[in-house]
Amino acid sequence: MRTKIIAGNWKMYKTIAEALELVKTLHYGCQCNATEVIVSPPATALPKVAEFLKDSYIKVAAQDLFWEDFGAYTGALSAPLLKDAGAEYVIIGHSERRQYFGETNETVNKKIKAALKHTLIPIICIGETLTEREAGQVGEVLATQITNGLAGLTEKEIADSVVAYEPVWAIGTGKTASPAEAEEAHVIIRQLITKQFGNDAANKLRILYGGSVKPANSKELLSLENIDGALVGGASLNAKDFIEIIKSCT
Ligand code: PEP
Repeated sequence: MRTKIIAGNWKMYKTIAEALELVKTLHYGCQCNATEVIVSPPATALPKVAEFLKDSYIKVAAQDLFWEDFGAYTGALSAPLLKDAGAEYVIIGHSERRQYFGETNETVNKKIKAALKHTLIPIICIGETLTEREAGQVGEVLATQITNGLAGLTEKEIADSVVAYEPVWAIGTGKTASPAEAEEAHVIIRQLITKQFGNDAANKLRILYGGSVKPANSKELLSLENIDGALVGGASLNAKDFIEIIKSCT
């Protein structure tokens, strides 16, 4: 039985004061022990959010990292620095990082290895664009992202990691993959993981769905066999909506 994860990606939103107000509402508004809940504030608010949440059931993720530990890399944040600030998870390879910041499957791979080396749990984002879906290339795209992005990892490292299937066309667009489309992609991902890392790792790996998840569609998506949670963007910025999504796991 895989414990479900609901993770909120706040992207480049929320000042420190706004971030604290949101986590306080989440912490006091929903004591949920059956589901793992993660919030991913911008780096500026992360230390304060982590400090407030240190005894909470809610965990903290960074939104990205650089693969070197320390050095002359202006503007970058490494795994040791993010751990020091209070992060336990890190989102890697989000489609916005791939689109605007030149992220590739090869840089994703280096970042995953850096995260694991410092016991930060990676939430690894993969997913196809609309053009790729319309060209019937979903399986092929996911296979390349998995083969190259996860190259060189051990079975245990994969079992302890998290993958988020985020069809790019569904992120921030209000368009959600239908439950059948989402489940089909999750099954493909689990089969690819089985092939590369074996049954045990594939059965343990949590695969989240991301792409316009909201209270109106979360229950149905989260009830599917291979959907082990959600990575939520827009709806995670609103405490009421995010709490409803968390509650729809049970
Ligand atoms: C995301 O940013 O990972 C995401 C899925 O965004 P949204 O829920 O807004 O589509």
